[in-house]
Formats: sequence, C-alpha cells, structure tokens
Amino acid sequence: MSKNKSRESVKVVVRCRPLNRKEEPNGPAGGIVQMDLRLGQVILRNPRAPPSEPQKTFTFDAVYDANSKQRDLYDESVRPLIDSVLAGFNGTIFAYGQTGTGKTYTMQGVWLDPEKRGVIPNAFDHIFTHISRSQSDKQYLVRASYLEIYREEIRDLLDPNHGSARGLELRESPETGVYVQDLTSCVCKSLKEIEEVMNVGNQARAVGATDMNEHSSRSHALFLITVECSQPGPDGRKHIRVGRLNLVDLAGSERQTKTGVQGDRLKEAAKINLSLSALGNVISALADGRSGHVPYRDSKLTRLLQDSLGGNAKTVMVATLGPASLHYDETLTTLRYANRAKNIQNQPRVNEDPKDALLREFQKEIARLRAQLNHRRWRKTEGEEEEVEKEAEEYMKMEEQRLEKEKEAIREDQSMLAEEKQRLLGEKEKMMGDLRKQQEAAEQLTAKYKAMESKLLVGGKNIIDHTNEQQKMLEIKRQEIAEQTRGEREMQQQMLVQDEETLELKETFTSLQQEVEAKTKKLKKLYTKLQCIKAEIKDVNDEHVRSRQELEQTQNELTRELKLKYLIIENFIPPEEKNKIMNRLTFDPEEDQWKLKSLVPAERSEMKKRPVSAVGYKRPISQHARAAIATGHHSRYRVSVWVIGLVNLFIPRVWNTCFQKAAFKYLHAIKELLKVWNTENPFFSIHSYY
Ligand code: ADP
Ligand code: MG
Repeated sequence: MSKNKSRESVKVVVRCRPLNRKEEPNGPAGGIVQMDLRLGQVILRNPRAPPSEPQKTFTFDAVYDANSKQRDLYDESVRPLIDSVLAGFNGTIFAYGQTGTGKTYTMQGVWLDPEKRGVIPNAFDHIFTHISRSQSDKQYLVRASYLEIYREEIRDLLDPNHGSARGLELRESPETGVYVQDLTSCVCKSLKEIEEVMNVGNQARAVGATDMNEHSSRSHALFLITVECSQPGPDGRKHIRVGRLNLVDLAGSERQTKTGVQGDRLKEAAKINLSLSALGNVISALADGRSGHVPYRDSKLTRLLQDSLGGNAKTVMVATLGPASLHYDETLTTLRYANRAKNIQNQPRVNEDPKDALLREFQKEIARLRAQLNHRRWRKTEGEEEEVEKEAEEYMKMEEQRLEKEKEAIREDQSMLAEEKQRLLGEKEKMMGDLRKQQEAAEQLTAKYKAMESKLLVGGKNIIDHTNEQQKMLEIKRQEIAEQTRGEREMQQQMLVQDEETLELKETFTSLQQEVEAKTKKLKKLYTKLQCIKAEIKDVNDEHVRSRQELEQTQNELTRELKLKYLIIENFIPPEEKNKIMNRLTFDPEEDQWKLKSLVPAERSEMKKRPVSAVGYKRPISQHARAAIATGHHSRYRVSVWVIGLVNLFIPRVWNTCFQKAAFKYLHAIKELLKVWNTENPFFSIHSYY
C-alpha cells in the first residue's frame, strides 16, 4: 500500500433540475432555489416565511442550475475522480435527493443523446479512452458488477436467476474491506461490452418491479467497476494498481411514512429507508468528528460504502434538488444533509499490489499456458503466433502423410505375413489417433490461451482510439476550462471568507463618525447572521420534534402489535410448546433476523428409515376380527383396515384448542359410523385407532 496518506474531504456538489410541466403553471417565480454558480452557493427561499426573514445560503464545492449541461458536471466534478480511480484509488460517486429531482438523470441520463449522457456512460467512455491512449507497456483488466439493495436485501442484477435467488451476503476481508459474496463480475473488453452489462442490469431491475418508478425510488442501485493496471516499475518488476469505482443511485430521500401502517407493511416501510437513515447517521457521526462510534454496521448500504465515507476512497456526492415550492421541506433537508457531508474527511490511498488482484492471477495463468504451448515441438518464440500456428498445421499434415505412406508400404509388402501386417497397421492406426488427440489438445490450449489473453487490454493496442487530433485538442481545451472554473470558484470562496476576516481586522478609524458607520455596518451584518442562526435553530428543533413524534408513533404501533402477539401466545400456545420454540430460536446478527434451529441435528439430518417389514408374519389382526373368527365366520374374507394416526393427519403442528375439539368431534363421528358398518358387515370389518 502507498505511503501517501493525505486527508481530503468529501466533495459535495448540488444540482437543481428545471421546473417540470406540472410545476410550470406557478411560473419560474415559483422556484425557491437560486444559485450563484461563481461562488458555488445555493440560496433557498422559504415560501411560507415573511419576506423579512433572511434566505438560507449554503456553499458547496460546485453548484449546477437548471441550465447546466451533463458534460460540464462531468468535466468539473467527476473527471478528476475517475482519473484517480485509473491511478489506483478507490472512488465513489453517489446521487442523493428526493424522488424526481434528477438522480437517475444525473447518473445515467439519456444514453442515446450525446448531450444528455450522464455520469455513468461518460465514465465508461473516459476509462476506455484512457486505456486506448496509454502506453503499450501497461496492461489493464476491467470488471463490472451491478447490484441493488431493496428492503435490506442485496440482489445481483447480473445473475439471470436473481429474481428467485436469495439475497447476497456481505463479507469482510482485511485486504479488500467489505465485499458482496458471490456477486457476478463481468470482464469487459470494450465500451460496448460494459454498456451491455449496464443494459442487462437495468433490464433485470425493471423486470422485477411492477412499478419501475416506485421501485427505483425505494431501492439503491450500485454499479461497481474495478480497473486493474499492471506496469513495469523502476525495479523491472510488474506492479499492479487496483482502482475501484462505485457509482451509486440512491433511493429517494423523502421520508417514508410509517404511521397508520401495520404488520408486514410497517416492517417494509421501516426497512425501505433503513439504509438511507443509517447513511444519514454515519454522515452525522463523521461530520461531527467527536463521536468515536460510526454506525456503519446498521445497514447494508453503509457497510458497502464504509470505505467511501471516512475511509480510503475519494468521494463525490451529487445532491439533487427540485425548484418547486411544494417540496421546500425536503429540499432544505437535502441541503442540510449535503452540507454535513462536506465535513467528512477521507484518507485516500493507492491500492498497490494488493494480494487479491485478479490481473496477477490472469498473468500467471497466461504465462503457464504459454509455457505449455512452448513446450510443444512446433512452438517457437513468442510473438510469432500466426506463423507458429501455420507451422503446427503443416507439421500435423506432414506427420499424417508420413503415417499414411508407412501404412501403404506395409500393405504392399509381400514378404510379411498377414497377421504381422495387421498388427503393424493397427499400431500405425493408433499412432494416427494419438496424433489427432494431440492436435485437439493443442487447439484447445491455444483457444484457452487466446481467450485469457484477450481479456487483458494492452495500452493503445486492443482498443482503437477513433478521435482525430482536432477532437483531442477540443477535449483538452474543455478540460482546461473545467480546471480553471474549479480554481476560480475556490478562489472566490476563499476571498469571501477573507473579506469577513479583514472586516474584523480594520479597527483603526480616522473619525468617530467613520467608526460609528463601520460598527453599524458590522452590527447589521452580525444581526443578520444571528437571525439566520436563530432561524436555523428553530428549524432544527422543529425537525427534531417532528421526527421524535414520528418515532413515538411508530413505537406505539409496534407496542400494540407486540401486545396482540403476546395475547395470542399466552392464550393459545401451551407453555411447554412455547418453551420448546423459544429454545430453538437464535438471532442471526448478519441477517438481522431470528432463525429456528433445525429439529434434527445436522449430523443426523437423514430421515429415519422405516423398519424392514417382518417378512413371513401376518399383518396384525384386530380384536374385532379375532372375535369374528372365534364366532366361526369364514376367515378368508376377513379384512381389517386400520385407520392409523388420524389425529396426526388432521391436526396441524401448532396445537390449536378449537381445532382439537373439532378434530375429536370428527373422529367420534367416524367411530360411530364404523360401529354401524362393522355390525352390518362382519366379514369386512374396519377399525379405527388413534
Ligand atoms: P430521480 O431519479 O431522482 O427520481 P429522475 O432522474 O428520474 O429523478 O428525474 C425526474 C425527471 O426529471 C425525468 O423526467 C428527468 O428527465 C427530468 N430531469 C431531471 N433532472 C434534469 C435536468 N437536470 N435537466 C432536464 N431534465 C431533468
Ligand atoms: Mg431514479
């Protein structure tokens, strides 16, 4: 691992989408969000507050208004992060915001419109263009995975059976940190292939959902790309750097109402936003900096993003807003959330020569296959593949011809005995067979070798860069402009802070009048600041009260349900049965669920076999039949059928007293019927037993 351990805060940018058709009747004036692109500030107007109340201002690393272009957001705020991933850092971009504010638009956009392609397609393009333009001593391996978290279950979107499969588990290793066990990972050799992977995942997401909008607003989608790069170092050995990129489209941040919901629906509502509220708690704990414990383990999402928040990754958060006044509260919550995230400090570092680099495995396997091929007679030096293959074919042909000729010679040889001839011909036939087998094995080996080798991308070789010089120049210029805009904004923000500081320093005045003026100005400024802070305190208080009330209501609902369950257990389940069940229950913290231990111990899990029938014995004869025999009826027609275990058949496992009564009534009725039958049919008596 690298020694570079500098700290870096999470970059937070805010984007506001245009008013949509439904919101337009209110006119542009209906918008409550204003943006200062130069300073990176968002100014939020409270539609319910009196005009005298100061507006709320938040400052971010960058802000993008309704007219912003996808490309600008990418070049200014995402490109540096992807460059870092290509250099071996871990990186995360996540879109956070209320449903309908443009998270998916920002992350994916409109694929077929080059102007509207979002962060993900632009990142794909960026990665493969970088590989096509890098030097030929670099080898790359690109892999992609796609998953979603829905109701705290991880689903693999690239697994064709993901709909029926159980949710995947999270595991932790000291080398890679937290990872998803058994997650499908596809090696992508080109832009087209990785786009195909994304398409397959998107379709899988849509197929599972009855209402895609509803589903996407309640689930988190994570697209993961791993870029491994091997390059010879100054020591002459090949060094591998691994960059992991998480592209995350979060569930809608709006509050899921839990009140008035019961049973399974309540559990579902509680689970849907569990990851998101856990994310909020993690951000708060990290931003606060004082609390030692960061609750990463509270949800799947926070565990997966552990590296990205306060860890070794570089992170960009895109908070999306809608301009409509209707959603003022949600917009304010998003801005506060984003503002808090700015304070999170990460310690990004390069992943150098990690033990689990797949590229290393691939290189070893390729070297092994190459050695095997070299071992064969026709294999010459490296790099002459086509020629070598041709030679191999010729060699085979020649060998075949030679054997054919030898066979001919044996056939024509008059001096040999027929038997001898047959034996020699058989031998030659066997040699031919061996030769063919050898050829097949060689072909298979070559195919395997080629398939393995094609997975590795060689800098500037496997992918052809079709952009011409002019386009390249244009790209460079655009990147320079983005760089400048970024720098300018940073300077403006610094100047703003310095302005305030210098105001405090200017303490020398030439006249009393001047001093009064300056101090009045300062007072006014401080007064406005005080008002802002007071309003902020009130807001935070209100929000706190609201969420407390909601929590109390949820608690009441849960207590009510618990009481109902207790009532049922106490009155309808015999205490010994209850104890048996209680003894079998264990809590699985990994899955956050209670589980029933199996009744049969694992080592004796086989079903007990029925005893082998006692051959030769007669089937047991009932008392009634015996009596019938004693009274002299012909025994040939006497059949006794035992109705065995009726109780077991009719009564379910959970002993229910109502059901018990009904079952006994039923059995009694059967017994009565049988009595009548048996008296009327002494030769065909039926007996009940339970
Ligand atoms: P979310 O994923 O946050 O629920 P979407 O990305 O689906 O929201 O966006 C909702 C609608 O708003 C879509 O029709 C989308 O095309 C549109 N939209 C979002 N952001 C923008 C934007 N910056 N410019 C133009 N249209 C946008
Ligand atoms: Mg969406």
